[in-house]
Amino acid sequence: MDLHLADKVVVVTGGTSGIGLATAKLLVSEGARVAICGRDADRLSAAVATVDGGDRLLAAQCDVLSADAVKALRDRTLERFGQVDALVCNAGEARVGDFFTNTEQDWMDELRLKFFSYINPVRGFHDDLKRSGQGSIVCVNSTVSLQPEPHLMTSAAARGGVLNLAKSFAGAFAPFIRVNSVQLGCISSGQWHRRHARQAAEGQSYEDWLKQEAAKREIPLGRFGTAEEAADCIAFLVSPRSSYVTGARLEVSGGIIKHV
Ligand code: NDP
Repeated sequence: MDLHLADKVVVVTGGTSGIGLATAKLLVSEGARVAICGRDADRLSAAVATVDGGDRLLAAQCDVLSADAVKALRDRTLERFGQVDALVCNAGEARVGDFFTNTEQDWMDELRLKFFSYINPVRGFHDDLKRSGQGSIVCVNSTVSLQPEPHLMTSAAARGGVLNLAKSFAGAFAPFIRVNSVQLGCISSGQWHRRHARQAAEGQSYEDWLKQEAAKREIPLGRFGTAEEAADCIAFLVSPRSSYVTGARLEVSGGIIKHV
């Protein structure tokens, strides 16, 4: 299916690893011009080498929790590409911790990360997306937004809030900008590589550890998803092929959410 993304300009926050990087690669291969950001300069350089987007890729250092840094990202994107048609709010990570171990600061940090990783980019790019005429925002979220897990209590509470926020955006920005959420289950990415390094038994390969974690969670499809599988769904919602879809949530989880 042609996603009709040729020459569209898409900003992917957190595009230097995992799902964001796979999304950037896919969008470039579909003919889009893509701006990615992340905080770490080395990861940005490595991403530029793997995406191989030539002058259709802009990589900029930016912490999305800084409104000024997002403004600078917006200025650089417009300077290079002259327009912005879509925004993928993907930057972030989960914070493990339960109600009793998380401090007040942990709560503040997590609520700030989850909310402002949407709020700052959406504020920063809203006017450009509206001007596009086919503006689209994809909010990368998690299945814990609807099916909380005890070891991710802080994250899950924040995720539920941003699922609600994305719905509000969809109502407020229609008919000019579509806004949809993607609820990811367990997707192999940088986060899971870091967890493997911390939690796996000595000598246990990443692949064996993922199989064990998938079995523990009783994922109906029996395995973790790949970053490329998540990217396929994100790209569809970014693209004009989902032109009548807004305020929706797409579950990409191998069936992990058990309720209707
Ligand atoms: P990765 O760790 O592989 O990638 C995270 C990306 O976000 C990196 O590019 C990282 O770069 C960037 N990033 C993190 N914080 C910031 C920040 N404040 N400003 C700018 N960039 C930032 O993780 P995933 O690919 O797994 O995660 C992508 C998104 O998907 C996250 O929001 C995550 O919470 C969500 N998700 C993932 C799931 C999974 O199973 N993988 C499940 C549910 C949700 P850098 O560190 O250099 O800034």
